[in-house]
Amino acid sequence: MPSGKLPPAAGQLQLNFCKTLTCPNFGSMDEQDYLVQRSNPARPTLVCRECGAFPPLLNNQQVHAELIAQRQLHADGLCACTNPACEHLGKPVLTYRHCYHAFGYSGDRQRYRCKGCQSTFVDRWSGINKKSELQQKLLAFLFTGHTVREICRRLSLNPKTFYDHLNQIAARCRQKLAAYDTRFLSDTSTGHLASVHAPLQPNSENGVQWLATGEAHSGYILLQDVNYHSYDHDHLTEHHDPYQDACRFMATTNAGQRSEPTPRPDGLLGRVDAKYREVFSRSNVEDPYTQPLHFIYPNRGTLIRPQYTTYAHYLNLKPFIDHWQHIVVFSPQEPLLRSACLSVFEADIRDKRVSHVYVEQDPYWQPGSEPEKIDIVLLSWWRDRWAFTRSGAGSKAICDHGQNKGREAYWLTHASCDAMKKYQQHFHQQFALLVNEPRRRLRPGGLLPLLDIYRAWHNLCWQDHAHVTPAQRLGLTDRPLTLADLML
Ligand SMILES: [Zn+2]
Ligand SMILES: [Zn+2]
Repeated sequence: MPSGKLPPAAGQLQLNFCKTLTCPNFGSMDEQDYLVQRSNPARPTLVCRECGAFPPLLNNQQVHAELIAQRQLHADGLCACTNPACEHLGKPVLTYRHCYHAFGYSGDRQRYRCKGCQSTFVDRWSGINKKSELQQKLLAFLFTGHTVREICRRLSLNPKTFYDHLNQIAARCRQKLAAYDTRFLSDTSTGHLASVHAPLQPNSENGVQWLATGEAHSGYILLQDVNYHSYDHDHLTEHHDPYQDACRFMATTNAGQRSEPTPRPDGLLGRVDAKYREVFSRSNVEDPYTQPLHFIYPNRGTLIRPQYTTYAHYLNLKPFIDHWQHIVVFSPQEPLLRSACLSVFEADIRDKRVSHVYVEQDPYWQPGSEPEKIDIVLLSWWRDRWAFTRSGAGSKAICDHGQNKGREAYWLTHASCDAMKKYQQHFHQQFALLVNEPRRRLRPGGLLPLLDIYRAWHNLCWQDHAHVTPAQRLGLTDRPLTLADLML
């Protein structure tokens, strides 16, 4: 077993480096800049010689494998190359015409050939949807809170046919969304994104986390992923060893004991400070599941260590916004989101093209309020520079990891994760019966197609208090779509 070495890069991908933004070794992949040891498991494997930080290590191959797995899910059913080994995997013909040749017809459907890998596929979306009427009814029942059992009874479907329809509807939604996503990404050159995470089924304790990133102000969702595969993997690991193959798959015995919830401190500063203490009680600060945490492993499928899902998520986001000149990513206070974002955009962070801002606020904060008085507090081992303020009864705090002094008042007014948080809350309310069905708690797989359907409905159909959809707010369309429009 080699010692004193970083886990090997996967192609160009090496994510193991110092993640302290102010450190000269930030982003350095030179092993000379670190102490690397594997003989004493009680001590950190990697220590930065400059700042003394010990960032947790990742298996780069496993991050890359998760990136491909996510990309395959996002591309499922799209008119796009589906070869996991191809650079064009998941790039829709619609927007990447230069990657494909038109290649004759299959019946009345256009066939294409990928220029990257020569594989061929048909455009299953050309022609009319013969099942449109039934699928519209199914969607209408879903969105009015009916259970799968009720929908099957009303539409005379058996459960298997129901899920076949659900998967087809989800694929159609992904295809619809691809056109709007592309317009948004290509029309934009500077923007505020926000990332949030929440349990997929809050009452299930099944360990499945749902991560979503979108445009912070309109609430338009671009990308979402869960740390769960609906199929079983053979090699599950109890402890994370970044030098081991398959180390991203969590073993079923990983679940800890249910612990007494610690009382929530009063005040925003107290809560931010308590979060840092919770983070440092993890043996891996980037893995929320390395502290004793109670969950019940799903009885089908496999849980992924959250850091692999999160790093892969940002790697998938990166090419979407490559041409943007300036990007700010907001997130709630969570080192996993911070580290994954900073690591993936490491060169852009140094060029100040990308920056990352933590946003925390209490429920009394009124959106858009101007800060009254700003207090600067340095917190945690990282000496993160937080700005706290109050307005009326509400409190809000931000931490700009770019350490740009003088921007505090601006971020306190404009930085927000609200729209993303509402997206997840609405899902849990809208589909409460389905999400909390006792039998489904340990079978999250059936919810995965629903996530894409919900993203399409939220971006294109759902209207806020001003009767405008997120897609309208971004100028991508001039009217809300209906469920029927989604199925055309
Ligand atoms: Zn350092
Ligand atoms: Zn290809």
